[in-house]
Formats: sequence, structure tokens, C-alpha cells
Amino acid sequence: MLPLVLTLAPTGMVPTKATSPHVPLAVDDVLADVAEAAALGVSVVHLHARRPDGTPSMEPDDYAELVRGVRAIDPELVVGISCSGRTDPSLAARARVLELDGDARPDLASLTLGSNNFRTQASVNAPDVVEGLAAAMAARGIRPELEVFEPGMLAHGVELRRRGVLPDGPLLVNVLLGNPGTSPRHPAVLAAFLALMPEDWRWGLAGIGREQLDATMLAVATGGHVRTGLEDNGWLDRGRTTPARNADLVRRVVRLAELAERPLATPQQARELLGLGPAA
Ligand code: ZN
Repeated sequence: MLPLVLTLAPTGMVPTKATSPHVPLAVDDVLADVAEAAALGVSVVHLHARRPDGTPSMEPDDYAELVRGVRAIDPELVVGISCSGRTDPSLAARARVLELDGDARPDLASLTLGSNNFRTQASVNAPDVVEGLAAAMAARGIRPELEVFEPGMLAHGVELRRRGVLPDGPLLVNVLLGNPGTSPRHPAVLAAFLALMPEDWRWGLAGIGREQLDATMLAVATGGHVRTGLEDNGWLDRGRTTPARNADLVRRVVRLAELAERPLATPQQARELLGLGPAA
């Protein structure tokens, strides 16, 4: 089995201190969680910037601080940033963060391959925006971190690669299961995703809310990679009595991987597996 690439998504756009008391929003708090997670075995971070008032940010400067901060923790860590369109779905607004340069340039940027509903909101990713973001990433030497909520989104990604919109070589594909409006966490649904998955794409599972632990176990058992963190789930237990910290969520993946005798990928191994060059 391949080493397990463990991704931490520490913040997201939605959690607040009211809903998730341990969610890191300020840059220093995000970086403290990343440092702790890296020491535990995380090799990839998926970052969302926030404004000083805690609301989601699409400002390159806010992302630059985060990317540079992660590089200072460990230059080999794989740094991904979000191109989410949940506050502004336009290409112009979402592509600005791809212009980050020098030591602020990320390794990965998220690319959701279609539109879908969340519990209270639609996530709109129009075809021209998906292709425009992919082109901007290619122009900047940033590899897309694919996000798929339905098997059809994955099939679309395969078509985009055939047309040269997505780059050749391995890509990280996060399969998000258990969002109320899209694919449930069901082994048969995972099988549908895997039936469509190109052999050289590196798929991982992320479970939303209550589904996170079971999605992790499914991924560990079936040779997939794992994404965890407070972006997707704020609770440590099924009964929702204990608010999680990011390190708690990472530790339980580490324990499961140990039990399954699956070594965690080092950041260097993750770079190799994801088609990234060595750290600059
Ligand atoms: Zn995200």
C-alpha cells in the first residue's frame, strides 16, 4: 500500500468560535495548529484565510501570511490554498490568490469540479470558472487539488484532463462524503468514485460532520488517503459532547493508520506522490 497522505483542513470558511470553540481563525492560531499537526504526521495543509474579524477572506495578502508561516514551520510541507467561490463565485475574485509569488506561492489550490448544494447554501462552480481556474493554476505552476462531491464531478475531471485543461501526472483528489446535499458515505458510492478514478490520481476521503470518522476508517481500510480537520467536522465524539481540536482529529487518524499498519507519508513522500517538485 502507498504511504498515507494525511491532509489537515484546519479552518474552512464556515466554522466560528461560537460553533467550534477551538477553530483557529487568526494566522498565529492556524500556524500553531499546523505545527502541531505536522509533528504528528500531517504532510499536506488545506488553508482558508480569514479577515481579522473572522469572516472568510479572498485577499492574497491574507493567504501570503499563511503560506509563508507554513514554510517557516517546515519548507517541505505541501501547502494548499482554497479557491472557494462560496462568498463570490466569479473567476476574477477566485483567481487573485493564484497570483501569489515567491515564497508565498502555494503548491496546490483547490478546484471543485462542479456545482452542488451544502446544507444552507449552493456552491456554484460554472464550467468557465472551473476551466479558468485550472488555466490560471497551470500558468502559475500550481497543481490543482481536486474536490469532488459526486462521481459525475470526477468523470468531468477525467474529461478535463483528456482535453488538456487539467495537467498530466498524479493529482490529489479529495472525495467529500456525507454532505447532506451530495454523495452519502456508503461503500457502494465510494465504489462508483473508484470505478472512475484514473490510476495515477491519488484519492483521499473527507467525511462531513458525523461522517468524518467513518470516512477516515473507510479510506484507511481501502488504501485511500485522508483529509481531516475542523473545516469538515467540529466534534470529537459521535454524541457531540466534546468539541474537537485539530490535533485531536489528527491523532485519531494516526492511531487508525497505525492499527492498519499503514505508514504516513512524509512531506517529501507526499510531494513525490502528488507530482510536486522538491520544496523551493
Ligand atoms: Zn476548503
